Amino acid sequence: MVEPIVVIGGGPAGISAAWQLAKRGIPVAVIERDSVVGGLAKTISHRDGMQYDYGPHTFHIRETESSRRVVSEVQSLLNGEYRVLDRGTRLFLERKYFVYPPEVSEVVRKVGLGLGLRIARDYLSAALRYTLNPAKQEDSFEDWGVRNLGRTLYDTFFGLYSEKVWGISMSRVSSRQAQRVAKLNLKNLILRMLKFKADPETYFIQYFYPHGGIGTLYQRMAGEVKATGGKVHLNARATRIEIHEHKVRAVVYEHEGREHIVPCQGMVSTLPLSVVTPMLTPGLAPATLEMAEKLDYCSLILVYLVVNCPRVTDYHWCYLIEPQFQSNRFAEQKNVSPDLLPEDKTVLCVEISCRYKDALWRAADSDLGRLAVNDLIKMGILRQEDVEEHFVTRVRRAYPIYRLGFERVLYALLNELHQVRNFYTIGRHGLFMNNSMDDNVEMGMRLAEHIAEGELRETWWRSVLKWTQLAGVGEI
Ligand SMILES: Cc1cc2nc3c(=O)[nH]c(=O)nc-3n(C[C@H](O)[C@H](O)[C@H](O)COP(=O)(O)OP(=O)(O)OC[C@H]3O[C@@H](n4cnc5c(N)ncnc54)[C@H](O)[C@@H]3O)c2cc1C
Repeated sequence: MVEPIVVIGGGPAGISAAWQLAKRGIPVAVIERDSVVGGLAKTISHRDGMQYDYGPHTFHIRETESSRRVVSEVQSLLNGEYRVLDRGTRLFLERKYFVYPPEVSEVVRKVGLGLGLRIARDYLSAALRYTLNPAKQEDSFEDWGVRNLGRTLYDTFFGLYSEKVWGISMSRVSSRQAQRVAKLNLKNLILRMLKFKADPETYFIQYFYPHGGIGTLYQRMAGEVKATGGKVHLNARATRIEIHEHKVRAVVYEHEGREHIVPCQGMVSTLPLSVVTPMLTPGLAPATLEMAEKLDYCSLILVYLVVNCPRVTDYHWCYLIEPQFQSNRFAEQKNVSPDLLPEDKTVLCVEISCRYKDALWRAADSDLGRLAVNDLIKMGILRQEDVEEHFVTRVRRAYPIYRLGFERVLYALLNELHQVRNFYTIGRHGLFMNNSMDDNVEMGMRLAEHIAEGELRETWWRSVLKWTQLAGVGEI
């Protein structure tokens, strides 16, 4: 019997890899700790007739060839049961709503002439300064922001907000943190406003969402894996990875208190690097394990408010920029998908960032509920008496924190893992990337293609360096 490729983690990256491997006739076994697949992108049932995600998880549609390919392949799983939506994100600032990504004409109109002129003046002076004195190799998020947007626009729309989310000064965070908005500069914003072709990777303006919740997508992938004879083990926690002569020979997992061993021809991990590295047996050098520990995360508390009215807002997400709000943003799932909630109620998902085990993380659910409700009352969109109940979820590793210099640690770690010849690490945590579902699905699909076509290991390594933008770091 041919041994399977074992995939640890049934989130978007892992289950996509398994789905595409199975499609190519390669035996696979997925090991997922949770009782469902989907990872951070699962859809959860709260009580009868109520479903929601970790914030509505929409699948981004980008204006690039690779995005079109991924979107069309995953949509084929849904038999047309999805809706395509225009991005419905707002920023709330000084009691006004702004469309996000910012629209220059709206910003100029709403911020008033004085601030508008300061934004234009600061942008022009930053553009001139950085043309004469280009960016240093190691650049902070703040440097990036001022260079691309000018001090005033950066501070107003990004700087204060980012410090609230990450909990540290943005001058200590690498400009890599801006990778999600990296092409968002005033030039591209103006090109878009004038309906000229801007960089297609600037940002996305559309996404799709399955009628049954985003989790449907990953359940369908799991269904296809099983239909081809592949295995999807749920409630199964990977505990050990056995290595012999630079190759993974077996993966061990725990299910209902019993240990199971799966001999394998190769292995894909989507786990955080600090979680997977101690599983390697024989163990890695203590210095390597310490490096993995240095890769730090921001945690997230999600407070769900069940509200007794059909709708509170008409947008999908709203960012609360100002420090007077303790929450970062909130989402109204019903505006993305009316199918998941009863007609007369809505659910708001309020996000509060914190650090694992700090005072906020440990706060009682009732206090967190109060905090979330107070922020929305302060905004003027909610009344206490309309909130029927609240419940809380905590995500320990929500966003990787790119402290200045993190690249050298990440490179060294990935390079060491790369020496295990049939071991692949992918996904948001597996590559320590602040990326989205579509990126991780694409990564999983690309890995399956690489394995099925028997490409050289070096080809894969080049893809990893490209995604993580680590090319050249090894030579530093
Ligand atoms: C609040 C929030 C909102 C977001 N909204 C969006 C959005 O709207 N659109 C978008 O594109 N992206 C969004 N994202 C990002 C998106 O969730 C991630 O990019 C994506 O889910 C990452 O997929 P992954 O497979 O790499 O990791 P994960 O989803 O984290 O999957 C990893 C899996 O590994 C499993 N696992 C962990 N340890 C073990 C173990 N020992 N054994 C077995 N299994 C294990 C976990 O249970 C999990 O299922 C959002 C993220 C957050 C935090």
